[in-house]
Amino acid sequence: MKLTRIAVATIASAAALGLAACGGGGGGGGAGSTGGGGGESVKVGIKFDQPGLGLKEGSTYSGFDVDVANFVAKELKVTPDFVEAVSSQRESLIASGQVKYIVGTYSITDTRKEKVSFAGPYFIAGQDLLVRADDTSITGPDSLKDKKLCSVKGSTSAVNLQKKVPGVNLQEYNTYSLCVAALKAGNVDALTTDDTILAGYAAQQQNQGKLKLVGNTFSTENYGVGLKKGDQAFCDKVTAALKKFIDSGEWEKSVKKNLGPANYTPGPGNPPTPTCQL
Ligand code: GLU
Repeated sequence: MKLTRIAVATIASAAALGLAACGGGGGGGGAGSTGGGGGESVKVGIKFDQPGLGLKEGSTYSGFDVDVANFVAKELKVTPDFVEAVSSQRESLIASGQVKYIVGTYSITDTRKEKVSFAGPYFIAGQDLLVRADDTSITGPDSLKDKKLCSVKGSTSAVNLQKKVPGVNLQEYNTYSLCVAALKAGNVDALTTDDTILAGYAAQQQNQGKLKLVGNTFSTENYGVGLKKGDQAFCDKVTAALKKFIDSGEWEKSVKKNLGPANYTPGPGNPPTPTCQL
């Protein structure tokens, strides 16, 4: 009896896996989420906890990266099915085929290009520091000795900081929102990552008057759409979609709508010219 049950369960889960692996391949309508091209449903990785960039509230997704992801999907004539892509999981989500592409404050780097390819850049950001509003001691990377820093596993922010400030006391969490909570609770003294992300947190109603950006950027982050390594045809299509997003004025509109409320103005080099970077 037990054996039979296990056998049945095994067959059932194998069937479920098979279905999942083939899901969408037939070009069915797909339930889909917001936006999209109305065709086959494809999994798209975004951030879920970065206001102004990629934010999930109930079944609603918003932010600049979400706009980019939706525009690309529309151009590809597919319907995006959003899944969370935390920083450290991005390369493996793409390589394993669990997502078709990722639009998640994802910096193009040579190390990442060993595992994935990129269409981009579609935006240029810079690394900065977020501190408590009453902090006057942190002014930039040179003032971080004896301070407790927070950043995220698998991010360029953590790597850059460790290079810039050797021996720095750095906690690495899974998501930036966990760092924000630690900063507010006094468990760390600063959060470091892209200024775009930090501006979004600083502008959240619950953080107003509590957190502030230092405003002294110390890196260049070229955001790209991550996709399967070496997939030239797909990379070219996504690049064309990004160019259209920029040239049509949608880029400007989306920046104003999503980053404007945080008083964020894009730095020099924006909007950039995307290419396919295999
Ligand atoms: N843009 C940086 C990176 O790709 C930091 C932001 C993030 O972790 O998403 O690592």
